[in-house]
Amino acid sequence: MTEKKKLKRPEVLAPAGTLEKLKTAIHYGADAVYIGGNAYGLRSRAGNFTYEEMAEGVAFAKAHNAQVYVAANMVTHEGDQEGAGEFFRELRDLGISAVIISDPTLIEICAAEAPGLPIHLSTQASATNYETLEFWKAEGLERVVLGREVSMAEVAEIRQNTSVEIEAFIHGAMCISYSGRCTLSNHMSLRDANRGGCSQSCRWKYDLYDMPFGEERRSLTDAGEVSEEFSMSAVDMSMIEHIPDMIENGVDSLKIEGRMKSIHYVSTVSNVYKAAVDSYMADPENYVCKQEWIDELWKVAQRELATGFYYHTPTDKEQLFGPRRKIPVYKFIGEVLSYNETTKIATIRQRNHFSVGDEIEFYGPGFHHFHQSVVEMWNEDGETIDRAPNPMMILTMPVLEPVKPGDMIRKKT
Ligand code: SF4
Repeated sequence: MTEKKKLKRPEVLAPAGTLEKLKTAIHYGADAVYIGGNAYGLRSRAGNFTYEEMAEGVAFAKAHNAQVYVAANMVTHEGDQEGAGEFFRELRDLGISAVIISDPTLIEICAAEAPGLPIHLSTQASATNYETLEFWKAEGLERVVLGREVSMAEVAEIRQNTSVEIEAFIHGAMCISYSGRCTLSNHMSLRDANRGGCSQSCRWKYDLYDMPFGEERRSLTDAGEVSEEFSMSAVDMSMIEHIPDMIENGVDSLKIEGRMKSIHYVSTVSNVYKAAVDSYMADPENYVCKQEWIDELWKVAQRELATGFYYHTPTDKEQLFGPRRKIPVYKFIGEVLSYNETTKIATIRQRNHFSVGDEIEFYGPGFHHFHQSVVEMWNEDGETIDRAPNPMMILTMPVLEPVKPGDMIRKKT
């Protein structure tokens, strides 16, 4: 009889651009979150955390048995490293679980000046073979985030040849270049992609010209002039249909991209992957990927979804070279603040305009969902209203099923 392979449950690691997103991600099932500090990170516009916010985030995470990692993965030019030792010591003393770094200078500073703070190698360092992982293990790193360009066969080979922890992306935006090796934004908008300023220039629309130089003209096809502008944007990654491959190949941490994304995205994606991992770990042999998980991810999709480089090099079907294909768009319209079991009335904070008569969907942690129509609403003074137009306004409405604080509401646009 063949011995059953012992499977380790991987953590679901969610992005958290703000304290609100950190709490939302953990509430919706993330085992760990990654955030940015005010220095050394790659998301200069992601609402980076102050030390006070980090302390609150760490306390919240600890209370829910979750981890907080800080991304400090910029490419460090001369002088950028000043003050890094103090920054890392502060993170360690705040109880941050690990710091995610790409630049060897910052790794050396962190190891020397903040001993005891675990270091994870950032995906920006493009680690795509086990020798590289072994190198970083020998340098004292506890985990390596793989480059998004690895294949599943390479993930398997890496796992078989090193014991260092592996973190791999399962969902979110992809770069058209190797992550951390793109200067398109630097050229197009003078914003350094490797120091937190990427302007997503690969996703802009460009006119496409034929050569030879000096005789430029709009590209032509047999059907005439190219009607759509050219973009180099990669479609997004989703590995929801391949969670068993990730777990069976020993990935320790399943990473979701998107520190700039909304709490609608963070709650939905964390909820789905938590459900999938729980379901697989409970009964690997009878696991099936549920259609409702896939449908749910499409509700927050910004682009088409594909599996990146895991199973083959992306073809023209996985790039938005031509016209953008339509994807369903849902609008996040509110969050539940409280629920009265006797009256079956929920108090809601509005996050986007909606009206009486709209068809809406409630969802919460643990994959609790239901749809209903908005039949009546009242403002904070108890007056009947037919629209909720004001951002963050508080209102009440009857709901068909019990809801909890932190449940969210969306509607199809
Ligand atoms: S411009 Fe595009 S490919 Fe380059 S770093 Fe930004 S998102 Fe990635």
